[in-house]
This record gives sequence, C-alpha cells and structure tokens, in this order.
Amino acid sequence: MFSKRFNFMTIAGIKIGIDLSWLFIAILLSWTLAAGHFPFAYPGHSIGLYWFMGVLGMLGLFACIVLHELGHAFVAKHFKLPISQITLFLFGGVAEIKKEPTSPKVEFLVAIAGPIVTLALTFLLFFTTYFGTQFGWSFILIGITSYLTTINLLILFFNLVPAFPLDGGRILRSLLWKWKGDLAWATKITTNFGLGFGFFLIFFGIFSFIGGNLIGGMWLAIIGLFIQKAATASRTQVYINKELENEKVLKFMTREVETVSSESTILEVLQQHVYKSHHHLYPVVDQNQLLGYVSLAEIKTVPQDQWNQIKIASVMIPLNKCVVASPEMSALNALSLMEEAPTPALLVTDGSRLIGLLTSRDLFRVISLKLELGDDRKKE
Ligand SMILES: [Zn+2]
Repeated sequence: MFSKRFNFMTIAGIKIGIDLSWLFIAILLSWTLAAGHFPFAYPGHSIGLYWFMGVLGMLGLFACIVLHELGHAFVAKHFKLPISQITLFLFGGVAEIKKEPTSPKVEFLVAIAGPIVTLALTFLLFFTTYFGTQFGWSFILIGITSYLTTINLLILFFNLVPAFPLDGGRILRSLLWKWKGDLAWATKITTNFGLGFGFFLIFFGIFSFIGGNLIGGMWLAIIGLFIQKAATASRTQVYINKELENEKVLKFMTREVETVSSESTILEVLQQHVYKSHHHLYPVVDQNQLLGYVSLAEIKTVPQDQWNQIKIASVMIPLNKCVVASPEMSALNALSLMEEAPTPALLVTDGSRLIGLLTSRDLFRVISLKLELGDDRKKE
C-alpha cells in the first residue's frame, strides 16, 4: 500500500513506520501551530518558543495516533489476526491487518479498540490541562495538552462516523453482520455509507475551497477521495472472497502440469524445462508417484559448477513438507494456504497422485474476468 515507508520502531513485534507523506504533514502541522495557533493563544513570546511548541504538539499528535493504532493492533493480535505493521501517512495512521476479521465479535472489538484509546487519551489530556491550569503550570505544557485534547476529540468523532472504512463503519458492519449473518451484505451497506460520506467531504471541500478556505477545503476533498477509494477496495475484496468461497480448487487449477523426474540432474531440468517453459515450480513425479517439487529457490542453493552432478532428488522439497490442496477444497481456503506458506504454486493432490497445480494468478484470472463483466454484482 505504501511505497516510501520508513520503519522507526517496533513495539511487541509490531513494526511502526512512517510514509514519506507524513513528513509533509509534520512540517505543515508544526508550521500551522508555530505561526498561527500558539502565537494567537499565547501572545508575546519569541518565534523560537512557538516553533518549539509547534514541534512538540506535532510529536504529541504523532504519539496519540500511534497509540490509537496500537489499540487496534493489540486486539487484532490477541485474536490471532496477522498484523503486519502500523504506518502513519497523510491522514493519520493505519494498522495493516492482513486478514478480514473472522467473526462479528472480533471485528467489533478490533474496531472499537482504537476509539477507546483515543477517548482515554482525551480524558487524560483534558484533566492534565485542567489541573495544570489550577496549579499554575507553564503555558508551554498546558498549551500543548489543551491542543491535543481538542484534536483527539476531533479524531474520535471523525473516526466514529459510521462510514466504512472508518472505525465507526467497521463497528456498524460488525453489528449488521451479527444481525443478519451476512458479511457481504453488511459490507455493501457500510461501504455505501463510505461512498456517500466520501462524496459529502468532496463537495463540502470544494464548497469551502471556493468560499476561500483553500487548504482546509483541499484537505476535506482529498480525505473524501481517500475514503471512497478504500470503500471501493473493501467492497471488491469481500466480493472476491465470496466468489472464492463458493468455488472449488478443481475449477481454477491447471491440469496439464509439466513435471520432472527425481533422477534428472539440475542441469537437465534447467535445459529441458526451466529455460523452455519458464515456470517457477516443477512437481517431481516418478512413475505417477508425486514425490515433491523443485523451484528456482532450491536450484539456487547449489553452486553452478555442480549443476551437472546434483540430482533433483537431493534438492527437492519432499511431499511431506509441501503445502498441498485437495481438488474439493474451496478456492478461498486454498488462497489462505498460499498466503500462510508462500510458495509459487500449490500442488493439488489426491493422496500421492498429482492432479493439478494452482497459482494465485489462476484464481485472480477468473475473478478479474467476473469483475470486468460485473455479472453477479448487477443482479444483486
Ligand atoms: Zn482507528
């Protein structure tokens, strides 16, 4: 999802990074605080002090967003959803969870964890500001905590709008999913809200822009576009999962598979197969018995000057270590097998007999064709 991403720390195995776009925001935000907000609220101090406060305010917001995302991430981790990383980008943060939640309850708890953290932060910051004022603490500290109180409250309300993919949209989706037991339907409703809310922000943004609020208007429109894009992507994902769930591996797999013998040398396999057909993986079959597979990864472990001596039998991945699919398995299960144990292709077997080969490209070829034709979605 992110092209220019830098990791800067890891908390409990969760990588935290920033997208290059966040640096732009960090500068813009520090500047807005140093040149506008703080001089207006606390006049009569040096520009250096305002910049110091501006940078602290920006870092504080950064920390609040990371904590919000960690809230999502820890709950996801608790329910064994694979979480890859947290990235801060243009509009805030995103905890990248690799799998869709497994049940409405899990989705609800993962979604609500972020807003709960933000609510707790809002209270904490509010009371710090309140008691700080009572006890006459420095305006530097109070200025920053009162700014962060307001901004966290805004983050809270914005995130609770029931428009997917915002947290509020996920919460609503989990409730609808629980109610009717149909994830695809719940996704359709909440992504519609997402598209609607996106439109609203775009129009409101353009309206503000014309009305003179150039930067604010532009931001609203960009956020609107982003929400629309994410809503569409989620909808497509759920549609794909539904399609794959209802289809068997048998339908997608390649039946005519090029195999190699365990007695061949690496050089023979390269010359007779790899250089000609350019597949990434070749099943190893002797007398109709599937023994395993060999791919470029295994071949590369052998030094080039030994390619004409070493036999496939000694480098192949044996069948008992292969991830295999049965022809009757649902395509969705096969896809998650591929994601869990990355291999170029899944062997489709019936016992020790090879029936076919399945790649993720096989799955998506059919799906993208269906998406292009839009057959099922128009019937809904
Ligand atoms: Zn969130």
